[in-house]
This record gives sequence, C-alpha cells and structure tokens, in this order.
Amino acid sequence: MNALLLGLQQGYTKYCCFICEWDSRARSLHYSRKNWPARKSQEPGIMNVENQPLVEPSKILLPSMHFKLGLIKKLYKGLETKTSRLYFLREMFSRLSEAKLKEGIFIGTQIRELIKDEYFYTLLQGDEKAAWGNFKFVVKGFLGKRRIQNFEELVNNLL
Ligand SMILES: [Zn+2]
Repeated sequence: MNALLLGLQQGYTKYCCFICEWDSRARSLHYSRKNWPARKSQEPGIMNVENQPLVEPSKILLPSMHFKLGLIKKLYKGLETKTSRLYFLREMFSRLSEAKLKEGIFIGTQIRELIKDEYFYTLLQGDEKAAWGNFKFVVKGFLGKRRIQNFEELVNNLL
C-alpha cells in the first residue's frame, strides 16, 4: 500500500523500501550490512520510482506490529544455529513450516508465547540473552498499547 501511494514500482523489486535504498536482491549483505543510505528523491525513473508520490514519505506511520515482526526475524537470524534451540522451537511451533522456521517468520501470538517461555531464555547465551531481554522490554514498553517514559532508552539498548 505504501509503495502504491508513493508511486513505487510494485512486486519483488530491487529497491523496494520507501525510506532507504535497501537492495532487496543483495542477499549476501542481509543481516551483515547495517547502513543503507536514506532515499533522498522520489523522482520518477530513479530507484524504482514510477510515479509522483501522492503523500509525503515522512507522513507515513508504520504500524508497531510490523516493527515487532521485523525485529523477531532479525533476532532469530542473529541467533547461532544450535540444534537444541532449533529442536525446541520446532517442538514449540510444530505446525510452523520448515521454510518459515528457517526465515524466522513468526506471528504475534507465537512471539508472545516465546516471550513468556522461560526455557527458551535459558537456551540463549551472552549477547543473545541481552538482546532477547531488550527485545522483551521494547515489546512491552514501546510496541504495546502503552508507551513508557524512557522508551527511547529501551530502543537504543536493543539497537
Ligand atoms: Zn529501508
């Protein structure tokens, strides 16, 4: 919908993000490259822009659920693949397809279950544990119904 409003080309395109010049085909750079330059112009003919945008990109608010889905995916991909952990997740979400498990595609209820699960937390180590703890705080204090006062700090910790 955002792409449509902003006059971006539809479908599986190379520069699909309306905020940055993220190259969706640069698979080898996913989860390793952290900075993608911000998209400066929305001129037709450049970086998959087909038409004049109908709205200001800065006026687009992304739903917090989408942040959550993206964050869990990143966290999951950042985890070291350990058999005990994979085995546990496979048991927990036995109806989740292998492909979704591989790519870290979880839905809201599954994220909630995972957050509540104490055993999953014990399977994590070091940085992973810290990242998971911060993720929990961000979900509770920033992405939920209420936003706590120091949410900026929480988000910075997670980053
Ligand atoms: Zn982007």
